[in-house]
Amino acid sequence: MNHILEEIKDAKTIGISGHVRPDGDCVGSCLALYHYLKGNLSGDTGVDLYLEAVPEKFKIIGNTEMVKQKNSSEIKYDLFISLDSSSPDRLGFAQEYFDNACRTINIDHHISNLNFADTNQVEAEAGSTCEVLFGLFEEDKIDLTIAKALYLGIIHDTGVFKHSNTSEKTMNIAGKLISMGVPFSQMIDETFYLMTYHQSQILGRCLLESILILGGKCIVSSVSKKTLEFYNSVPADLDGIIDQLRITQGVEVAVFLYETDFHEYKVSMRANQAVDVRKIAVHFGGGGHIKAAGCTMHGAIYDVVNNLAAHIEHQLSNLTREQGSEY
Ligand code: 5GP
Ligand code: MN
Repeated sequence: MNHILEEIKDAKTIGISGHVRPDGDCVGSCLALYHYLKGNLSGDTGVDLYLEAVPEKFKIIGNTEMVKQKNSSEIKYDLFISLDSSSPDRLGFAQEYFDNACRTINIDHHISNLNFADTNQVEAEAGSTCEVLFGLFEEDKIDLTIAKALYLGIIHDTGVFKHSNTSEKTMNIAGKLISMGVPFSQMIDETFYLMTYHQSQILGRCLLESILILGGKCIVSSVSKKTLEFYNSVPADLDGIIDQLRITQGVEVAVFLYETDFHEYKVSMRANQAVDVRKIAVHFGGGGHIKAAGCTMHGAIYDVVNNLAAHIEHQLSNLTREQGSEY
């Protein structure tokens, strides 16, 4: 075992969790590590995996029924492992178990990661936490469930090998996982592209209602709580809207917001070339990557958008000065 996993051997009770509103990389990395540990540690080691509700489509991995939601009793784990989370508060309800644990490990790929555990394995150049995990696992101990979980994380965080975080290493790992029998066509279609009728309707509505600002360099769209309820949808149903906004011609930054409470918005940002959206998200208390970041903001939607736009405009105008270009 790799040195990090070597530390795990002595723990008799292990807790694992990933970030709130789990995405493909979060679910994939948590399930991959859970099954790897269950398969390779002695039988009397207790391993618990905590996550908020796992989106139905991700259950294609199989063996997901052991995921636990909040446990009311106080638990003190020998070891707690945080995955795909840049700070402990991203663990949501599971932060309590992390804080109580005797030892902690943090495995992630966010450049904004705070290195908040006793042992930190943060690889900012990796396209996904699943890619980091693959490097820690022994290949001959990866079974089909683990391979599917890792593949899920890799395709979701790289936008199916399209984002700039995709590397030769990413493709080599994906190739190995395919050779292990991962049903890649089905997984890509059913977890990444497939939409329910209501999801398509909300997407259509968001595109229709989107606005271009900053001379067409920035596109903004939003969904209110009322709209989400009208379509009987949950925030996970909004996945993919930001990606569609980002590929609008001429746009440097796409901003998508959805209302989580009165005067509270979850913000997603994507950049094409020129802007570091992570910087902006961090400024507003969030985090992420240079080209994909998010945060939660408070206030009227016009103020939220104006505040974000000021930061985007600032970066765009700095570029104009630096490059003398048309930004
Ligand atoms: P998304 O826009 O898909 O929700 O998130 C894009 C990236 O930003 C992901 O890597 C995600 O982990 C990160 N991110 C999104 N929202 C937050 C947030 O509120 N806090 C932090 N630290 N990171 C976030
Ligand atoms: Mn990730």
